[in-house]
Amino acid sequence: MDRKDERLLSQGANARNTRRWYWANHDRAKELKRAAMRRHRAKDPEVHRARGRKARERQRDALLMLYGQSCVLCGFSDRRALTLDHIKRDGMSERAALGERGVYRKAILEFRPDLYRTLCMNCQFVTRSQP
Ligand SMILES: [Zn+2]
Repeated sequence: MDRKDERLLSQGANARNTRRWYWANHDRAKELKRAAMRRHRAKDPEVHRARGRKARERQRDALLMLYGQSCVLCGFSDRRALTLDHIKRDGMSERAALGERGVYRKAILEFRPDLYRTLCMNCQFVTRSQP
């Protein structure tokens, strides 16, 4: 076995040990990764803010593409006032469980027109106040 083989072998061992440590300390590993990402984003906050804005905009585009570009009740189409409505009125608990972006992600991935629809803020408030 020459030096190159030894190096490759030790790299393999390192990779195995890293993997083993990762799964044995999963929560800690995620915590460290989150902290590293926070430090990384702090170096160039404006770039990362812009990236986040763009990602949210793309997600909203996909959402409105799937569930309609206008309110299903009144036809209002100014996208600044369009929202994703939970037809079964379980939006609050779902948002608490998944977060707003998590709800959007799920609505896009699963495409459930039986659960979600596009409403404008006016219709959203009007239907919310009905018994
Ligand atoms: Zn409406």
